[in-house]
Amino acid sequence: MLTYSYFGNKKAGFCEKPVPELAQATDAVVRVTLSSVCTSDLHIIGGFVPRAQKGVTLGHEGVGIVEKTGAGVKKFAPGDRVAINVETFCGECFFCRNGYVNNCTDKNGGWALGCRIDGMQAPFVRVPYADNCLNKIPDGVSDRQALFVGDILATGYWAADIAEISAQDEVLVLGGGPTGICCALCARLRGANVTVSEINAERRAFIKKNFPFLRVAGAEEALAYCAALPRGGADRVIEAAGGEDSFTQAWQAARPNAVVVLVAMYERAQKLPLPDMYGKNLIFKTGGVDGCKCDEILRLIAAGRLDTQPLITHTFPFERINQAFELFAAHADGVMKTAVTYRGV
Ligand SMILES: [Zn+2]
Ligand SMILES: [Zn+2]
Repeated sequence: MLTYSYFGNKKAGFCEKPVPELAQATDAVVRVTLSSVCTSDLHIIGGFVPRAQKGVTLGHEGVGIVEKTGAGVKKFAPGDRVAINVETFCGECFFCRNGYVNNCTDKNGGWALGCRIDGMQAPFVRVPYADNCLNKIPDGVSDRQALFVGDILATGYWAADIAEISAQDEVLVLGGGPTGICCALCARLRGANVTVSEINAERRAFIKKNFPFLRVAGAEEALAYCAALPRGGADRVIEAAGGEDSFTQAWQAARPNAVVVLVAMYERAQKLPLPDMYGKNLIFKTGGVDGCKCDEILRLIAAGRLDTQPLITHTFPFERINQAFELFAAHADGVMKTAVTYRGV
């Protein structure tokens, strides 16, 4: 089958590989029906993910149909429609038992698919620990509705969760890209008032049009809004921009004793000026999603409470995935997310 793989030295491209087989009793092989291009794919190609393996098939966000299951897989059978989790995890180690599946100590634990083991920019993918790492897509939920469940929606849901958001909280989300929007939608589900800070006017217009229940502002306006709040800042801040100034804005916009969640994957070290923030008594939480609440997310989608389909601004057949990457990397044509479709082997 044709795959889209990472070759090292900032290169990726098509590569012929055998169709994956079951390697362990707990594996499933899934026929991919829809996958995506993610910023993390660009990070791998750019050389910012040292653990990424040369030769690995890229792609860690997708949905499909179970093709084969190992003898140890109890929850799934061939023919089941599934969302595939970005993280594979054993379910038994200390970290898994506490819900910290990103730090699963298994050799295939955490973010392995499309990074350390072959991912889903290919017509078939082998998924380790299938019972933990696949989620059944409810009837009535389409592939496009479920596409982001295993990665950016899992991230948004987890970020809103660890931010300890209550109803009526003022939440500031920095970054109005796909991940920031998922964080904002999940914060909103908890009854918070959500402001998205986004520097790009085209993206601000996109959010206004597609998610009119979110407040959206440029960086300066968002900071001024937070500073004028009765408690002197946002109750909760989620930093999903990863820009030059966004970490500074995150702690500056927070009220005293706020929770600041750092979701962004920074390419550079950030400055933590402790003397300047002394007495503000902030709580920082840093991440790497623990993606173990995907069934809850799918239930919310099925109930009509969460809809990320507008984020799919462009769709390409797998044969033209190069173009999906180029468009996504260039931020061209108002792209938010590119979806990739498959015809089979
Ligand atoms: Zn991703
Ligand atoms: Zn584990």
